[in-house]
Amino acid sequence: MELSFPLPRSPSGKVYRWCPNEECAPRLFLLGDAQRPEDIDVTVLKRAPGTTGTTCPYCGQDADDDEFNYGGDIEAVQRYLEWAAVRDINDHLVKMARDFNRSMPRGSLFSVKMDVKPDHTPEPRAWREDLIRNLACDRCGRAYGVYAIALFCPDCGSKNLHVHFEREIELVLQQIDLAEQVAENGGSELSYRVLGNAHEDVVTAFETYQKASYKIMVRRAFSKEEAAKLAGKGAIGNRFQNIDRARELYQNLAIDPFSVLDPDELEQMRLNIEKRHVIGHNLSMADEAYAGADSREKPGTTVAILSEEISEFALTAKKVIVELERLL
Ligand SMILES: [Zn+2]
Repeated sequence: MELSFPLPRSPSGKVYRWCPNEECAPRLFLLGDAQRPEDIDVTVLKRAPGTTGTTCPYCGQDADDDEFNYGGDIEAVQRYLEWAAVRDINDHLVKMARDFNRSMPRGSLFSVKMDVKPDHTPEPRAWREDLIRNLACDRCGRAYGVYAIALFCPDCGSKNLHVHFEREIELVLQQIDLAEQVAENGGSELSYRVLGNAHEDVVTAFETYQKASYKIMVRRAFSKEEAAKLAGKGAIGNRFQNIDRARELYQNLAIDPFSVLDPDELEQMRLNIEKRHVIGHNLSMADEAYAGADSREKPGTTVAILSEEISEFALTAKKVIVELERLL
């Protein structure tokens, strides 16, 4: 006998999935429904969407759908079945007691009455939460939820780094809009602070996406011991906050995703990364090192943060991320 049981769903209608790879972190992601694009080109996809098989969006592991079952869902099914069985037996006993009591002769000297309390235990329900980031694959249209960043579509297995980075840019542009609204309402200092945060977010996202991709590529290219050495915390540190040091790391893989930038773009990126240091660590006041890098600002004065500069910086960073995705 085969029972099918609907998995508990999150408020947005997604089910929990759990990566079978024990070394994967954070393992949990959510799978939603798909709005398939009309012009879907199956030949460029790793797996035809909707067919069996799942790819972990974090580590890229492929396995059968069943291997991605979430332990909590299995427990929820067991709890439900136990509840349903107890309820069935109780219903049966209540009915038996009623029949027995009815069969007792009335008016006799002795009477026996059977009393079974009906079971009112509520049906067990599993609570499933949505994760913060909810996206849809731009190739197959499958909606999914992850914590903050992911590299692959769980349905068609496509590399999805660009979809996630575009979402980062979208959030940065929303912060720029917000800063402009605040400035219009006379909050120029707050507006400057919000712009500074938007600028910092570009650097943080750029660093995080590089780190995540680098780790996966190293794990795929080297033995377990070598990979642990090359992609360990000490080996990576904050090297992806610096173009030259990031390029040194990429040499381990014989790649250079920065090669897609022209010298001007590289120089602008260098300056923006310097600026981030000043914004994040020095209350946006230029220090000696920054004043040396960009002669426009004197030490101790606040650096200019322009919205066009931030969005341009984000688009330049995206070029590198798209190249990184191609190399992944
Ligand atoms: Zn997909």
